[in-house]
Amino acid sequence: MGPPPGNPLHVQRIEMHLQIIIRLVNPAFLERAIALAIENVLAGGGPFGAVIVRDGKILAEGVNMVISTNDPTAHAEVTAIRNASRALNAFHMPGCEIYSSCEPCPMCLGAIYWAHLDRVYFAATQQEASQSEFDDTFIYRQIALPPESRLIPMIHVPSGGRALAPFQAWMEKEDRIRY
Ligand SMILES: [Zn+2]
Repeated sequence: MGPPPGNPLHVQRIEMHLQIIIRLVNPAFLERAIALAIENVLAGGGPFGAVIVRDGKILAEGVNMVISTNDPTAHAEVTAIRNASRALNAFHMPGCEIYSSCEPCPMCLGAIYWAHLDRVYFAATQQEASQSEFDDTFIYRQIALPPESRLIPMIHVPSGGRALAPFQAWMEKEDRIRY
């Protein structure tokens, strides 16, 4: 718990936080993500764009390709990560940052963690997106529910030792490539 809002210490902390953001963020990359999102709408796609940056340069870009590819997972961030992994020929991308036109949905947030990106900058918030028919807040709320209480029920099926067999195979494989 920090100091209460309105408290001078609280205000000072927000100002320090903003100074750190201003020092780190490159507004040109965020603007590029937003421009990609707008271009994508004009081309018939969803209003989302993302760029992955390394050493101050754009390594990869992505736009929402759900409609054009009939792929519900082809969000801008996922598309950018796929393009970046091809560019790097690697499945982890430390030293890279992602700029997204919108706060990542839970799927993209997971992908960002799996990709080991260093930092996420986003423009629109999930609340702002939800006002334009893109309700990611709904999924965030679903995650907080017990699995069996979600709109799409998730049912744990006890499978004895069989469920562990893939992990045993993994742990016994000496030349496994850890990720
Ligand atoms: Zn997403």
